[in-house]
Amino acid sequence: MWRREMRLAQRGAPNPGKESTTVDSQTIPQTTPEKTDVFQYALTQLDRAAEMLHLSPGLHAVLRSCKREFTTHFPVRLDDGSLRVFTGYRVQHNLARGPGKGGIRYHPEADLNDVRALAMWMTWKCAVVDIPFGGAKGAVVCNPKEMSTAELERLTRRYASELSLLIGPDSDIPAPDVYTDEQTMAWIMDTYSMGVGYTAPAVVTGKPISVGGSPGREEATGRGCVMVIREAARHFGVRLQGARVAVQGFGNAGSVASQYLAQEGARIIAASDSRGGVYREAGLDVSRLIAHKAETGSVVGFEGTEPISNQDLLELDCEVLVPAALEGQIVASNAHRIKAKLVAEAANGPTSPDADAILADNGIVVLPDILANAGGVVVSYFEWVQGLQKFYWPALRVNEQLDEFMTRAFHAVYATAQEHKTDMRTAAMLLAVARVAEATRTRGIFP
Ligand code: NAD
Repeated sequence: MWRREMRLAQRGAPNPGKESTTVDSQTIPQTTPEKTDVFQYALTQLDRAAEMLHLSPGLHAVLRSCKREFTTHFPVRLDDGSLRVFTGYRVQHNLARGPGKGGIRYHPEADLNDVRALAMWMTWKCAVVDIPFGGAKGAVVCNPKEMSTAELERLTRRYASELSLLIGPDSDIPAPDVYTDEQTMAWIMDTYSMGVGYTAPAVVTGKPISVGGSPGREEATGRGCVMVIREAARHFGVRLQGARVAVQGFGNAGSVASQYLAQEGARIIAASDSRGGVYREAGLDVSRLIAHKAETGSVVGFEGTEPISNQDLLELDCEVLVPAALEGQIVASNAHRIKAKLVAEAANGPTSPDADAILADNGIVVLPDILANAGGVVVSYFEWVQGLQKFYWPALRVNEQLDEFMTRAFHAVYATAQEHKTDMRTAAMLLAVARVAEATRTRGIFP
């Protein structure tokens, strides 16, 4: 509920004629001056793993392709009565291990290649944490900041209706991603349920608890990320007590990770969002920073801090760096200036393959996205199971099980890294690709 309260607070006083939207900043930033082709990142990572695993060319080609790519252009009536056509995507990368699973993003810069990459990463992520899903992802090209809540609801319902060809509790289960939230999921669930004629809570995860959401889902990505950091700190000789942490992207994943890291005794020295960052060597009071962001819409201007740019934040002298914003943030041009000992990728795809190599050369341990931010999909899995069984778990059970899954996944990746004498990203990819390849091989090729 924490995120919802924060967003409600951000809405502030009603604005006649235009309800406020659910996004948390005035502007939606460019990811990088030139848009990064993250699908190339994903393919490069896969090719490396395929080579090390000696995958057959045929199987390698299967895993390089997305099984289904759906594009829809659909009209939405805006509040002023005009019609606007939006473009939406849903990509299912690989369904060998189970139904498609992955978030839906609303972003003006989203394109099909982003969605392909994100779907592929979902396949590997579900395999790393060993949950029975394949990988999928969706996006609508839109700027939610410029839209009223009523417009966003109409856009979401029409997109969900277009998607009903693909989604379903047994086929493909969406969840929130950047600039979508539990309300978006409630609209999708309701739209799908209207179509089938009964309430189908298991068609989406990340729903509000009042309509079948799971306790702990909202915090799961940040919480799971800290579980992975905790295990990594033990194995890579970093003391979390007093450790300096910089967090890029103080949204859901970043702010929750900051809270749990502070509970572990770490000092959050910097945090940022799309409007800029704040720095305090002695450490930020995370709860007060969350309240400040809820009140003002940004971390910027938090009292007792110095301003810091998003670029400078990445390069701070610190023990742990948590990129928790968007992809393509640590690239060849800035990787050699990163000083953290651990980089925990709460965001998807924040590090380019070139940058990965530079970080590895400099002895920096990268906890890859498909492991570090898998907590969200693990609790989504718990939510889906609860929805199918109509039997709901208490928060304690959710959090204990999350710890079990994240700790087990960390140790599986760590053991693979030791065995192959390689870095954690390559190890996570080896583990994931081997599991998906095995499932694909065992099922055989139809017909
Ligand atoms: P969010 O919308 O809650 O927060 C994103 C934050 O990043 C916002 O505060 C935004 O202002 C900030 N931001 C955007 N661009 C920025 C930039 N260029 N520099 C600095 N800050 C910037 O989104 P979220 O759910 O926290 O997702 C963040 C990342 O985590 C995404 O890559 C997402 O795919 C990934 N992720 C999220 C979840 C989840 O369950 N929320 C799960 C897995 C992965």
